Amino acid sequence: MKFSSTRSRDKEITFGKAIFQGLAPDGGLYHPTSIPDLKELFAGFSGSTSYNELTEKVTYELLKEELNKEAVKRIINSAYSFSPFLRRLDDNLLILELFHGSSYAFKDFGACFLAASMEEYLSLNTKRAVILVATSGDTGSAVAQAFYKKKNIDVVILYPSGRVSNLQEKQLTTLQENIIALEVKGSFDDCQKIVKQAFVDQDLINNINLTSANSINLGRLMPQAFYYIYAYAQIKNQLKDDLYFTVPSGNFGNLTAGIYAWQWGLPAKGFVAATNVNDVVPEYLNEGIYTPRASVATFSNAMDVGNPSNFERMQTIFNNSHDKMKSIIHGEVVTDNETLDTIKLVKEKHDIFIDPHTAVGILSAKKFLKETGNDKQIIILSTAHAAKFPETVEKATGMEMQLPEGLKKTLTLEKHSIPVENSLSDLKEYLLGNY
Ligand SMILES: *Cc1c(COP(=O)(O)O)cnc(C)c1O
Repeated sequence: MKFSSTRSRDKEITFGKAIFQGLAPDGGLYHPTSIPDLKELFAGFSGSTSYNELTEKVTYELLKEELNKEAVKRIINSAYSFSPFLRRLDDNLLILELFHGSSYAFKDFGACFLAASMEEYLSLNTKRAVILVATSGDTGSAVAQAFYKKKNIDVVILYPSGRVSNLQEKQLTTLQENIIALEVKGSFDDCQKIVKQAFVDQDLINNINLTSANSINLGRLMPQAFYYIYAYAQIKNQLKDDLYFTVPSGNFGNLTAGIYAWQWGLPAKGFVAATNVNDVVPEYLNEGIYTPRASVATFSNAMDVGNPSNFERMQTIFNNSHDKMKSIIHGEVVTDNETLDTIKLVKEKHDIFIDPHTAVGILSAKKFLKETGNDKQIIILSTAHAAKFPETVEKATGMEMQLPEGLKKTLTLEKHSIPVENSLSDLKEYLLGNY
């Protein structure tokens, strides 16, 4: 498989090149140039196929022009010591828990695959790379955990001093080894500005192999297709009705990855794009007009996105045809009050705590069933552990949540950060002095 920019098909590059570039030079996003038919491979998977076995086989099929079986095996084993878990809620609904990795959110699946792939490609040419990230909290911790102890890679994280939660700060600053946390005297926007300046600074470009790991990176997106296939393999024996997936969405990376899996042969009948009131995509699906706008704050804050970056990939997949996209993706919108009600209801009815993003997914699936009939199985992607959003969960249920053991332990560790001024010069001095 080769990849090209969503904005021009002229130049095809390998996966190994695309993951170090992040964004294409023309500002577009990397996207597969062909659609492999993997129906037979998928049909061979069953409920007893392990996540690592499945991801290894799919990755090899996709990347065999550039990676041999041993290299793929190394990547998968280095990336995944956790797997998704499929839980049935009722006759129609199942949730796919994607929060059993080290940062307790689905972004671990993409970040760990990217980190392991970069490690593999760097070992081929023994170059070192420095990953530079600005974080407002969550992305940084997923990236930090994913790259922890990876060979030939250093991670430098900039975070705004005093503006991330205590738990988030501990997640960023307690790993050490190849993970360096720079505590910036400024806001998240300042951190982002400094990182952007670093990527165009000639001294840095000439001396350091700087790269990014943000969510538009193909190396984070592609592996998110794998858990849709895994979920299908888990229930295919019980499947009498059509299968749908509901995806709580913000930047629409998760949903785009599901559509890739469908293009490669996953027997899904369709997808529900579930959003909070930041609903530019459901609005497009219903009305045919795409109107990006400023986001508004909600309880499901990882989905507070007013101009989703992956919409460009979705348009490319469906050839800019509204009708084609609408025939596969259905949009649903859930308000904050409905989110709270759903968290409460699911706790009462099924005795599990769900996070606000998963709640948006579950209610969207129910709305979809109500509108279109009950003759379906719907798998809802559960994107984060409820304990990551204790205020909202407690507000909804009136009950206090226990932190998982891993997070409790993180809170007891000692913080190690390097204070820096709010300017490129401190960062630059640090990078040139240390790498
Ligand atoms: C990032 C995130 C989302 C949104 O995923 P996209 O791929 O950006 O659509 C949903 N839920 C949680 C918990 C997230 O962290």
